[in-house]
Amino acid sequence: MDALRRNQYLQTMGVDVWVSRHPPATADVAPSAAAAAAARVGTTSQDVTAAARVAGTASQDVAAAASVADNAAAWGSGTEAGAIFVPQESAVATPTVADAPTRRAPSDVTPGTTTWESLRSEVLACTKCALHSSRTQGVFGVGSREAQWLVVGEAPGAEEDRRGEPFVGRAGHLLDAMLKAIGLSRGRNVYIANVLKSRPPGNRDPKPEEVAACLPYLMRQIELLRPRVMLAVGRIAAQNLLSTDVPLGRLRGKVHHFGELNTPLIVTYHPAYLLRTPSDKRKAWEDLKFARSVFQGLNPT
Ligand code: URA
Repeated sequence: MDALRRNQYLQTMGVDVWVSRHPPATADVAPSAAAAAAARVGTTSQDVTAAARVAGTASQDVAAAASVADNAAAWGSGTEAGAIFVPQESAVATPTVADAPTRRAPSDVTPGTTTWESLRSEVLACTKCALHSSRTQGVFGVGSREAQWLVVGEAPGAEEDRRGEPFVGRAGHLLDAMLKAIGLSRGRNVYIANVLKSRPPGNRDPKPEEVAACLPYLMRQIELLRPRVMLAVGRIAAQNLLSTDVPLGRLRGKVHHFGELNTPLIVTYHPAYLLRTPSDKRKAWEDLKFARSVFQGLNPT
């Protein structure tokens, strides 16, 4: 698709097209080897600068633009303040992650240890915190168990509690549209889970003791899945995964590393926040492109 046609297409869909007057900077954003040494759960963060918060290559942007146009209605109209940032084609460096761990075949899980089904049963029967008495059901997770992407949210809401699946309410529809814009879908190539598996009443923030009881389940899901990249949506997911109280705004735009495998972890806004604050959808789109470029750096074509 040529640029003119693409822009006409996007404008028809109500997506603003922004054209940079300056060629984007290139950057060597390989995280330091020190990151590879961090072997505990959680918490190294590489200061990958704004220069690295760039989209992928020209062809990737064309594909994404079409995908975004498909999703424009769900993301929000370009006439809103939250119009999506769709970059013009540009040649930019793709962030790379040094010493990316080799992916273990799913069948490597030792017999007798946790399996997806045994873990799921444990979660659904869990009574480790008080939330078990107010929930309708535990919400384990959804998506491909072979996925290379893991999206982590906060906790089930009312609709998720009713249906037993993460992100199925309004915020979930927006999350699906966001993921689709970078070629991901829960039915195919992404796994979605929450920090908490039970709904906090009234959608209040999780209490520390609830997180302490539930986080080990997420850790075990991560061990089983072995994602190549993780996307934390919202403050609660990001801060708990990274064991930090740094505000979300300062966690965005960096490649953090999670756990013993130093899995790259990118932080973005929670879709429920984006529904309330559509003007930040543009920043979320930058985060998604950044995450995609990190992933593509792990899988050179
Ligand atoms: N918000 C979340 O963080 N997770 C869900 O599953 C639904 C809403």
